[in-house]
Amino acid sequence: MVLCTINNTFKYELENICRLFFPFEKITVTDEESAADQKEMWVAAYLTAKEGKAHLTVRFKSGDFVRLGEDTCDADDTAECERKLAVLLFEILCEYTGLRPSWGILTGVRPAKLMRRLSESMGVEGAKNYFAEKLLCSGQKIELCAAASDNEQRIVSSSKPNHFSLYFAIPFCPTRCSYCSFVSHSVEHSMGLMDEYVTLLCKELAVTGKIAKELGLELSTIYVGGGTPTTLSAEQIRVLMDAVSSNFDLSTATEYTVEAGRPDTITADKLQAILSGGATRISINPQTLNDKVLQAIGRRHTAKEAIDAFNLARQCGMKNINMDLIAGLPEDDVESYSRTLDGVLALDPESITVHTLSMKRSSRLTAGGELPDTAQALAAGQMLKMTGERLQPTYIPYYLYRQSKTVGNHENTGYAKAGYECLYNIFMMDETHTVLACGASGVTKLKKGENTIERIFNYKYPYEYNGNFEEILRRKDAIKPFYEDVKF
Ligand code: SF4
Repeated sequence: MVLCTINNTFKYELENICRLFFPFEKITVTDEESAADQKEMWVAAYLTAKEGKAHLTVRFKSGDFVRLGEDTCDADDTAECERKLAVLLFEILCEYTGLRPSWGILTGVRPAKLMRRLSESMGVEGAKNYFAEKLLCSGQKIELCAAASDNEQRIVSSSKPNHFSLYFAIPFCPTRCSYCSFVSHSVEHSMGLMDEYVTLLCKELAVTGKIAKELGLELSTIYVGGGTPTTLSAEQIRVLMDAVSSNFDLSTATEYTVEAGRPDTITADKLQAILSGGATRISINPQTLNDKVLQAIGRRHTAKEAIDAFNLARQCGMKNINMDLIAGLPEDDVESYSRTLDGVLALDPESITVHTLSMKRSSRLTAGGELPDTAQALAAGQMLKMTGERLQPTYIPYYLYRQSKTVGNHENTGYAKAGYECLYNIFMMDETHTVLACGASGVTKLKKGENTIERIFNYKYPYEYNGNFEEILRRKDAIKPFYEDVKF
């Protein structure tokens, strides 16, 4: 497909609109109108300004399907010109594909943050109307977004300027799921790296804890993510959690999550190590309770193992458990998804996080050419609608974000019982406060004031982390100078 943008600078937004409908199509973006003729499918977006008025035109052609959309706008209002061109393109592509993405022309990853911002200036009803009329979002998505934005606001406002969250990653998994694009290494390939990784990570935690103390930062939440942290042995988990408790002041932390993740890695020993290390929350992620679907996505565990792992965690005394599900998985359908919801609700977890399958280019699923069709996109929409209807009001949506290339362009939503929201998820997505990150693929985000953010990247892969550890520590030297002019 060719996208020509003539006399305007809205390439990025217009390409994003095209990607809503053709996520896997190669899109050539150009300002050369002649490039269009050489392709089977092309779209051209023009802006012509005259006497303060902008005339906006979108032309689309694919085979015999030819459409023209037109509108006008105040030429000085660049944002509105961009929005109106996006709407023209969106409507034409809806007609061409027969699909109407329910987030409309909204392509950003944090819709709830946008709603919060708009609510401040135009009130909640004004923000909802803007989402409906200007961004063409569906009523269902608007209500979901408004509820999540309300809860996010409450949690975000509990953070103080000297607060920070600690994140560290265990980028190992027992095997690789077919939809995974994360840099996680399967144990089969990287068992030999794990001991050294744990040793070095303890050192990085010690250096990071010392910096946080010297700066007077106050620990708010801790999140141990993956990969699958419970791929480690109980002893390795103990060693790491000791490194956390001896280098950070846990008394100020209101939440300590360990993502247990894959049920096939969870044992009573590991759960005891997690609990005695001070964790207050774990996540056990079945993704689905349909064995056929689990097999199709390359997870080497059964639904029963997920349920057993949950019950074991309860027996060990874990009082706050999240379960992750995915809507839109291959081989899944609305009835089977409904049975998964039945099974998860019967366990009565404190929170349930529902992702939409994201078809990342680097995953085995996408590389294997299994691209979702319209029926799967519609089914994913039904699954998410059903989730909202069945989980509420016991579980409230409190966290919402979007990723690219999700089946049907849907969202990821965290639902929780009151008081069991994952605070770290919100702080991280909202960029509320500093996140100090350790381990391979960790990204430290330093924040001061309203909008000043600096990032420090660790190496991605465990072998790079182990092999470049001195450089990882050297990069942490940038943390103190960042706070030089800040008084808490
Ligand atoms: S458990 Fe998560 S990180 Fe590990 S392979 Fe599966 S999707 Fe990737």
